[in-house]
Amino acid sequence: MRQVIKLKVAFLFLCLPFVANAQWFKHSFKVMGTMSHVEFWLDEQTNSLDVSGSELDTSHNERAQALIKSVEQEMFRIDQQMSPYKEQSELSLINREAANKAVSISVELFNLLNTAQHIAKISDGAFDITYASIGYQYNYREKTRPTQSSILKALPAINYTAITLNKEQSTVHFNHQGIKIDLGGIAKGYAVKRCLSLLKKAGINHALVSAGGDTGLLGDRNGRPWLVGIKHPRTEHKTAVHIPLENEAISTSGDYERYFIEDGIRYHHIINPKTGDSVRKVVSVSVIGKNPTYVDALSTTVFVKGLIEGLALINKLPEFEAIIIDNQRRLHYSKGLQ
Ligand code: ADP
Ligand code: MG
Repeated sequence: MRQVIKLKVAFLFLCLPFVANAQWFKHSFKVMGTMSHVEFWLDEQTNSLDVSGSELDTSHNERAQALIKSVEQEMFRIDQQMSPYKEQSELSLINREAANKAVSISVELFNLLNTAQHIAKISDGAFDITYASIGYQYNYREKTRPTQSSILKALPAINYTAITLNKEQSTVHFNHQGIKIDLGGIAKGYAVKRCLSLLKKAGINHALVSAGGDTGLLGDRNGRPWLVGIKHPRTEHKTAVHIPLENEAISTSGDYERYFIEDGIRYHHIINPKTGDSVRKVVSVSVIGKNPTYVDALSTTVFVKGLIEGLALINKLPEFEAIIIDNQRRLHYSKGLQ
């Protein structure tokens, strides 16, 4: 992972796979309250495989459209399961019932909760899905936020150690009333991961899948690394830096996606679990690594931890690197990128 950023030179262009009837397919769509994008290279060889790996005899274009559809459906499926805004979602069921009893959940959601708990542990609670116990009192569109007294009242309900996961039974139980969970800091990365493996199983070797600030890559693009832009934190439609990547995932967390400003103070969607307030130590964090689920959660984590502690955490994890933009718009890199 330390050699993640491989700046490829132009001669690699010569290695362009030469396949008749091959081309890039692209599609963008809205899901999970954000824009998603899928892009992949489909050649004749991959043309003969469907998602389950069996033979198919459809035209090149039809085949591509079917793949695009399966990516779209997978994202929507995860949204149905994990959205806090859908009453029917498994997540909503947990939030309604888990404080009263152990709730049976799908193995898939159980495993994701387990991963979230693991990241909570290694980050000393900087990443904490129970942040939502207060997080749901913010409404960035309506520009409303909880009062200091309601924050103090709800603060004991932010505590990931009060979540009990039982693997044998596949259940979740909250040991505290008032706990609410939210997977906004990890679910998009998970969705990207699922879509990439779906494409890979179908024989695709070069692809990009993104959901908001989460991007996952298979292979390279035309023999060159993909160039993934990190948004400028204060100027819309501007890129702060381009990162050349292959076979990696990158996730960016910023204070500019969902926010409002009141009395000169920025209230945004990344919450310090210790205070119930938005974190204002840095403005943008990107984390790079192989696992899209982890890089998503870790970018939120490092954002909460801030520059010094955040870099210290990433420098302890050999599979991940980070790029941080501080309040003065200075760029900072973890050890493996310097
Ligand atoms: P985005 O959702 O814009 O891609 P992030 O990956 O940084 O951005 O995730 C931010 C989301 O993570 C918030 O919208 C919220 O759902 C969730 N979140 C906020 N604070 C925390 C926290 N301390 N721990 C875990 N999740 C958090
Ligand atoms: Mg994140």
